[in-house]
Amino acid sequence: MLGCVIHGQGDLRVDELPPPSPGSGEALVAVRYGGVCGSDLHYWRHGGVGDFRLREPMVLGHEVVGTVVSYGAGGDGPAPGTAVAVHPATACGLCPECVSGRRNVCRDTRYLGSAARTPHVQGGFAAQLVVPAEQLRALPAGLPLRRAALAEPLSVALHAVRRAGDVSGRHVLVTGAGPIGCLVVAAAKAAGAARVTVTDLLPRALEFAVAAGADGVVRADEPASPGLPAEVDAAIEASGVAAGLDTCLRLVRRGGVIVQLGMLPPGQTPFAGNLVVSRELELRGSFRFDVEFDEALALLAQEPRFDDLVSAVVPLREAEPAFALAADRTKSCKVLLDFEG
Ligand SMILES: [Zn+2]
Ligand SMILES: [Zn+2]
Repeated sequence: MLGCVIHGQGDLRVDELPPPSPGSGEALVAVRYGGVCGSDLHYWRHGGVGDFRLREPMVLGHEVVGTVVSYGAGGDGPAPGTAVAVHPATACGLCPECVSGRRNVCRDTRYLGSAARTPHVQGGFAAQLVVPAEQLRALPAGLPLRRAALAEPLSVALHAVRRAGDVSGRHVLVTGAGPIGCLVVAAAKAAGAARVTVTDLLPRALEFAVAAGADGVVRADEPASPGLPAEVDAAIEASGVAAGLDTCLRLVRRGGVIVQLGMLPPGQTPFAGNLVVSRELELRGSFRFDVEFDEALALLAQEPRFDDLVSAVVPLREAEPAFALAADRTKSCKVLLDFEG
């Protein structure tokens, strides 16, 4: 079978891989679509993401949907042939974070296609994938596989909105209109936000934010823009650049919450820490998700407009052009790889 493997910075290949077989408690999935994530692009362009560095070849991908093929001994779940989304995290279930219900920050988690631990956890960009059976979710009725491929990034967005506290009736700022920023817009609206304003440098990205439900969009390089609010109730930083965090720190109201969702560059990031002090701001991190995966699938089933955020579907054999397209934010929101055939 074929898979999309990162061998090092700039070295992305479509390799022939041994077909996996499910062990005890595991499921075999025929992958249909895999969403190219910002983290996949980071492994390709920079050889790492955040503080995680690539140390060996790794199958990329953690945003995967497909159909159930079979189960190993003792494995149980949706019947073979059922369309499923794959929850990419296997939390340890034993550490203090898992026990206290924060499985997304488990200190011994395994996450598909991640170099956070060595040996790396191989990902889901392959024709067939083996995962623990309990990580499969049958798609809700009426949810097409193509849209379901957004379940993982939408879960990330739902978790970030939850970290912001109750946004219902509030004005929320989102910095960064990449796929995650756009999905944060949709998640904030679903959580009842009265108004969501989005900033980005690129007009095309802001168009995707509007498609996701943004009430106002502002070019980040036009700080005097009349569209920029004087103050917001909460801010979610989804650009992963220090300038985005700075905008959040300056625009959130006193006592307000800023959620840092975008992965910042490796190492240290200077920030306007005195604003945190004098305005009693709350700066919170948001990392991955847990139970939000099921909420994401339910929301995707209700809202056909999420289809507008899938900007291209590219066959696996053209993985590198697909990555280049996904990295071109003047054209793309979410790009999917198609593993059929
Ligand atoms: Zn992702
Ligand atoms: Zn744990």
